[in-house]
Amino acid sequence: MANAIAAIEALADVIIANKEKLTELDAAIGDADHGINMTRGFEAVRSKLAAVEQLKDIGSVLKLVGMTLISTVGGASGPLYGTAFIRAAAVAQGKTVIDIDMAAQMFEAAIGGIKDRGKAVRGEKTMLDALEPAYEAFTQEMVKGESLTGCLTLATAAAASGVEYTKTIIATKGRASYLGERSIGHQDPGATSSYLILATLTAFAI
Ligand code: ADP
Ligand code: MG
Ligand code: MG
Repeated sequence: MANAIAAIEALADVIIANKEKLTELDAAIGDADHGINMTRGFEAVRSKLAAVEQLKDIGSVLKLVGMTLISTVGGASGPLYGTAFIRAAAVAQGKTVIDIDMAAQMFEAAIGGIKDRGKAVRGEKTMLDALEPAYEAFTQEMVKGESLTGCLTLATAAAASGVEYTKTIIATKGRASYLGERSIGHQDPGATSSYLILATLTAFAI
């Protein structure tokens, strides 16, 4: 439990530390607010976590994160990440530790939430281009018997490749789609924040 809260606090730190970078990426192909949106959301998450006395399980922590992101972020990323955390929360309901099977289920549920909410598929230059290859790498390592940290490490590497891949494709969802071919050559801000989130969670899967 303490570990789950520490992981969320670390997520907030990393997002806030990357506020300028995420905003710059969004300036090139969107409306220059992704870092600002995510920072607003995670600052609210941090203060809510500090204010809540008792969170009885990991599901409650993740539900609080998801609800807070939805209500504070504004922008497409808020409902998308918010839904992802709420879906992962449902898997973690009543749990105080995360094992590898549960982590896989949470990951799958989170991606399912993003797809239900945003109706995007892989290859449209969104956060899914980091998350879906990461999930595939995770499950591939899992069946080989890798540890949770091992699986997350490979997943993070796949997310990094996914971020690189977003530079090569045209955006067909979200604001960047207004640019059409001019979106080529630019890295997707949401894929980048997804990579940062995975990289941070990897450090906590001890
Ligand atoms: P907005 O575009 O409303 O200003 P943000 O800038 O915070 O919101 O977030 C933009 C990011 O959201 C994009 O870089 C992309 O990764 C992601 N995104 C946008 N639309 C979708 C969608 N339909 N499905 C998945 N991700 C999306
Ligand atoms: Mg934006
Ligand atoms: Mg916006």
